[in-house]
Amino acid sequence: MTPFDVAHHSKPATTGPTLIDGFGRTVRYLRVSVTDRCDLRCVYCMAEHMVFLPKAEVLTLEELDQIASTFVGLGVKKLRLTGGEPLLRKNLEVLIAQLAALKTLAGQDLDITLTTNGSLLAKKAQALKSAGLKRVTVSLDGLDDEVFKQMNDVDFPVSDVLEGIQAAQAAGLGPIKVNMVVKRGTNEQEILPMARYFKGKGIALRFIEYMDVGATNGWRMNEVMPSADILHVLQTEMSLTPLQASQAGETAERWGYLNEQGVHDVSLGEIGFISSVTKAFCSDCNRARLTTEGQLYLCLFASQGYDLKPLVRSELGQSALTQAIAAIWSQRDDRYSELRVSEPALENGSTPSGAKRKVEMSYIGG
Ligand code: SAM
Repeated sequence: MTPFDVAHHSKPATTGPTLIDGFGRTVRYLRVSVTDRCDLRCVYCMAEHMVFLPKAEVLTLEELDQIASTFVGLGVKKLRLTGGEPLLRKNLEVLIAQLAALKTLAGQDLDITLTTNGSLLAKKAQALKSAGLKRVTVSLDGLDDEVFKQMNDVDFPVSDVLEGIQAAQAAGLGPIKVNMVVKRGTNEQEILPMARYFKGKGIALRFIEYMDVGATNGWRMNEVMPSADILHVLQTEMSLTPLQASQAGETAERWGYLNEQGVHDVSLGEIGFISSVTKAFCSDCNRARLTTEGQLYLCLFASQGYDLKPLVRSELGQSALTQAIAAIWSQRDDRYSELRVSEPALENGSTPSGAKRKVEMSYIGG
């Protein structure tokens, strides 16, 4: 569906700071995929042989900036650059500098962050910081090289990612988060080593349930390690206490470490659980996702996006783009994530009733 269609069928859109959808949800967070290419082939994310978008289909940095700025004008406070591997995008620092100059509707700095596999982070951390990036999230699925390789399917040492994390810390790109996808039968033995390694380093380690996204990863429920089981493994060695959510719409449940006196010790860092399979959440979802080619998705589990590219490349101007985005959000009434739990995907990505979930994580940006 194109925004032209949406605009045509829509009632007048709500604009400004009170952009609210059919379930009372407000848009606050935009995830922008800056490339569909990646230098890893994580088995849970990307097929080995991918067909990538032709260059002409990829939004330019100016077009990405225009759409992101429009969202900021509609109330977004947080931007995340993702991909593919965002650090593969040429001149990414130029985009970051443009985005960093924006202010929220309340006149505050935006929270601008980036999710990376860390392969180029050691080289780029300082330039990213200088351009205005606030912090990074690094994906790392284990400390053992063999296990890491089984997860990402390329020969790439864990030590390079750890160096990248250190460089990001040294550059002040914090607080840093590390995301670990746990796939039962592949990397669950890395849960405790990862927690031991990151404890006390000022880095939040978050465990992500292996999700039924896309159609190429051959997802099966028996390969999902539920957060409750991960917590159980951690508690065999560590004393943890649940923490309050720090903001509305937060995806991770946070836990802190207790010290030997049984008191929560902030200096030991924290653990997070993203339970997108066992505890699907939609009610306070405040996020939208923009793909590299300008498709706007309102959910990871949606099978269809809204094509903003024709609008951005048209002569219709800024107000048409604003109206279209406002109309799309105002009419939002999905809760795909919760509904999918009642109808889990089959191995081919379809569901028993025939619904397709084809959007790949590498395309939509995680
Ligand atoms: N290349 C960057 C990276 O590795 O972080 C950004 C893109 S990646 C698609 C974003 C996040 O999605 C990563 O943390 C990755 O582990 C996660 N991810 C991808 N497929 C997943 C799946 N099926 N289940 C859970 N998390 C997944």
